[in-house]
Amino acid sequence: MATTRDYYEILGLPKDASVEDIKKTYRKLALQYHPDRNKDPGAEEKFKEISEAYAVLSDTEKRAQYDRFGHAGIDNQYSAEDIFRGADFGGFGDIFEMFFGGGRRGGPMGPRRGSDLQYDLYITFEEAAFGVRKDIDIPRTERCPTCSGTGAKEGTSPKRCPTCGGTGQVRTTRSTLGMQFISTTTCSTCHGRGQIIESPCPTCSGAGRVRSKRTITVNVPAGADSGMSLRLSGEGDAGEPGAPSGDLYIIIHVMEHRHFKRVDYDVISELPISFTQAALGADVMVDTLYGKVKMNIPAGTQTHSVFRLRDKGIQRLHGHGKGDQLVRVIIKTPTKLTQEQKDLLHQFESLSKGKKPDGEDKSKAEKHKKSKGIFEKVKDAFES
Ligand SMILES: [Zn+2]
Ligand SMILES: [Zn+2]
Repeated sequence: MATTRDYYEILGLPKDASVEDIKKTYRKLALQYHPDRNKDPGAEEKFKEISEAYAVLSDTEKRAQYDRFGHAGIDNQYSAEDIFRGADFGGFGDIFEMFFGGGRRGGPMGPRRGSDLQYDLYITFEEAAFGVRKDIDIPRTERCPTCSGTGAKEGTSPKRCPTCGGTGQVRTTRSTLGMQFISTTTCSTCHGRGQIIESPCPTCSGAGRVRSKRTITVNVPAGADSGMSLRLSGEGDAGEPGAPSGDLYIIIHVMEHRHFKRVDYDVISELPISFTQAALGADVMVDTLYGKVKMNIPAGTQTHSVFRLRDKGIQRLHGHGKGDQLVRVIIKTPTKLTQEQKDLLHQFESLSKGKKPDGEDKSKAEKHKKSKGIFEKVKDAFES
């Protein structure tokens, strides 16, 4: 049911809208489109859409997920019910009941749904950038394969509990001081299940469920990042007979890379260059996620200057385009100098000192040329 439109666009709000603005806007739009007031054919759909947008943006955690990962961040982590559950819709009735028919599964007396499970998945920087399929082993509770979950030995079946007659509850009547008290309690023979197993299944000892390890394939989408979680519906622990399984949440952890860091979809790297390359300019090769790429360092580059390599960043999650790579150059000062190198640098130093700070110094161009010539020599001395 989830919409694919941008939640902020649906509410007509900017990305930095305050919680108050979100509430106010939702109230206004809800009054306009609530199906009780608006009988236009598209009104109910529209009302659903604005309610979904509101449910996500009014919840700090869901909003943070959405801001970071877009619809993928929400769809991967929350079911449609989860999106609406818990949201405060103000005076607009129980919207959860309205959309999901009030069928909150499994009352306190019914069979219990299986537990949700969580798995921490560690992936490399490249795997996060390009996406990856991983087989993981999940220890979990599964329906017993021998008895198909009934808990009864092969060839037998569970019997109706003789104590409670299958209701799972017993009424007891006590007479005290001439008055009768009737109370209902959970049947102690069948523990509320209404059935008893006379010959338990040897595999699960009558529980209907067994511990096992299951290999599950996880598809991590390109652009995934640490903190993202993927919901695998029904892959959690098995429920009690008749109840659904829980869900499995895969929490993504991206390991550090030797050279690259990441900010959103941009890749950040550092590139050491020599001071002659910085002064004279040079073409250098830069490591990217896509192999080596030639980059031009212009003459006169200062240390910590940042250069942008367009589209060499990470693929956007389920979206179009990629981030960039930002290359920060670090100028390396040489530590070991030969006598010749020292002499040349002294020469360079005295030429720089002789330079007039300003004006029409006739010898300036001459000196500059000379200075540049020395730099070329220095460069040769360092880079050969
Ligand atoms: Zn019973
Ligand atoms: Zn069994």
